[in-house]
Amino acid sequence: MPYQQIINDTYHQIKSGKDEGEAASYIPELAKVDPENFGIHLITIDQQEFGIGDRYTQFSIQSIAKVLSLSLAFKLWGSKIWERVGVEPSGTAFNSLVQLELNKGIPRNPFNNGGALVIADMLVGEFKNPEAEFLRFIREINNDNKIDYNLSIAKSEKSVGYRNIAICNFIKSFGNVLNEPERVLDFYFTMCSLEMTCQELAQTFLFLADDHFRNTKGERILNMSKAKRVNALLQTCGFYDESGEFSFTVGLPGKSGVGGGIIAVFPDKYSIAVWSPKLNAKGNSYRGMKFLEAYTTKTESSIF
Ligand code: GLU
Repeated sequence: MPYQQIINDTYHQIKSGKDEGEAASYIPELAKVDPENFGIHLITIDQQEFGIGDRYTQFSIQSIAKVLSLSLAFKLWGSKIWERVGVEPSGTAFNSLVQLELNKGIPRNPFNNGGALVIADMLVGEFKNPEAEFLRFIREINNDNKIDYNLSIAKSEKSVGYRNIAICNFIKSFGNVLNEPERVLDFYFTMCSLEMTCQELAQTFLFLADDHFRNTKGERILNMSKAKRVNALLQTCGFYDESGEFSFTVGLPGKSGVGGGIIAVFPDKYSIAVWSPKLNAKGNSYRGMKFLEAYTTKTESSIF
């Protein structure tokens, strides 16, 4: 497959088209990012790399980090985690409280904020220093000690985090958050502040594409059955209430974040990261979605 050629052509096609939407500004620090950034990086499972644009600039991966916290929790506790968080698409916004009341504090899936807070609570309960352990987990996948949190983004989100504070306390009232909400929220805001380049993001997510992937210690991150399940959740729940649309137009498992990043995985082939900060009405990168749709169309390849 001439990946580089197709990436170049698609990049220029999308860049010359319109760029709708707004970069996220509800987290004040995110509003400082140049909305014109646009980068793509693809890594195949045999470590060939292709890309274009602002792919070596770090950005806030935000909700994409929820896939990594889920993977760590799933690795540690296996299917026990599904007693506290569901595996169904929500059809509601990432920060909605609506279903939590009906489902008695059991979030629909691990990628809406409620689900990610329950997973964060599990990690806070397990580790003395969950921030350090989570970072270590990622650096060992990536063999890159430069990956880090951006604490001014975490602080900025905390300063306006009223909705997440409400969600966490609401779940606590049902008994599905075991630790102090303030501690769980601190970890959650910090993990969402992780920064990566498109290159680092694609590298980090190769473990979901490559059954034989091993971290720097020679360990597998997830066995095949667990990787299958995480990819299934990406497919059905990775794009908030636009998960159906992403499946329909792109046809790959993926996850977006309000920093404008998208990671998508083609099992047994590659992972691809796209970054463009302007978000559509559903909170997903406008150009990121358009790029991946055009890219999978041109390559005539998707999991379907
Ligand atoms: N930290 C963000 C929030 O909780 C993550 C949202 C996202 O990227 O979808 O609002």
